[in-house]
Amino acid sequence: VKMILNGNITERTEIKIDLEDRGYQFGDGVYEVIRVYNGVLFTADEHLNRLEASARSIHLTMPCSTVEMKEQLLQLVEENKLDTGIIYLQITRGVSPRNHLFPGAEVGPVYIAYTRELASPTAAMENGVKTITVEDIRWLRCDIKSLNLLPNLLAKQKASENGCFEALQHRNGTVTEGSSSNVSIVVNGEVKTHPANNLILNGISRQVMIRLCTDNQIAVKEEIYTVEDLIGADEVFLTGTTTEVMPIIEIDGKKIGNGAPGPITRQIQTLFKAEIEKQCGQ
Ligand code: PMP
Repeated sequence: VKMILNGNITERTEIKIDLEDRGYQFGDGVYEVIRVYNGVLFTADEHLNRLEASARSIHLTMPCSTVEMKEQLLQLVEENKLDTGIIYLQITRGVSPRNHLFPGAEVGPVYIAYTRELASPTAAMENGVKTITVEDIRWLRCDIKSLNLLPNLLAKQKASENGCFEALQHRNGTVTEGSSSNVSIVVNGEVKTHPANNLILNGISRQVMIRLCTDNQIAVKEEIYTVEDLIGADEVFLTGTTTEVMPIIEIDGKKIGNGAPGPITRQIQTLFKAEIEKQCGQ
């Protein structure tokens, strides 16, 4: 199986990452996860544009253009014969003696990408999942897809230890997002999701969901809502690249609606599946 290191497609076993890579020592870098269905990249441009925006936000120079990057990723998918799965890509600020200060211009970024087979989570999407709420203890630039994921890991681990799929984070009573997904509620037939500001990652799946709702006469608002609104909602669902559109049937041990995936969530799942088939074939 092959991966990309700094623009070259190489056998994975031949790749070595330096112990003074700033990604390893500081989490000083950014990343993306792109879905592949039937060997075709889903919403690749959106992901690569977000990667570029994340890099710019931390004053990190992109190793190449997003156009070149996409060409390399297509080649990688082909060489690895990936059918359904993900591409993981990350860029770090490179290798230099450990120092909080950025290295000089002579140090270039380290860019890696690899593929992994991963099926859609069909059973969970069909049955719905349980979740817990946790305090959002992250920094104030959650819009950057940075490698620093410690608060997200703590949240996801706590969810798992409580037999749950995801942790829904809240800041001062306002629901922000999951540990690796966005969350939306449905109240009286209207979808509500946190606005795309510095407090959440503006998920690509979230953006697709909003567009699909708008195009299909499902009312959708980017507006803040409370933990109380969340627990009392008619329906709650997650969106994310690996999560797709995932119904939530329980939060902190309390049933959402009648404890089964709701009709608007089902409709959005159907629209999302059709969008995947439109972009990637059946
Ligand atoms: N929020 C966070 C914190 C995430 O890690 C993810 C997954 N990348 C998302 C939201 C969903 O974003 P996307 O739909 O682009 O995968």
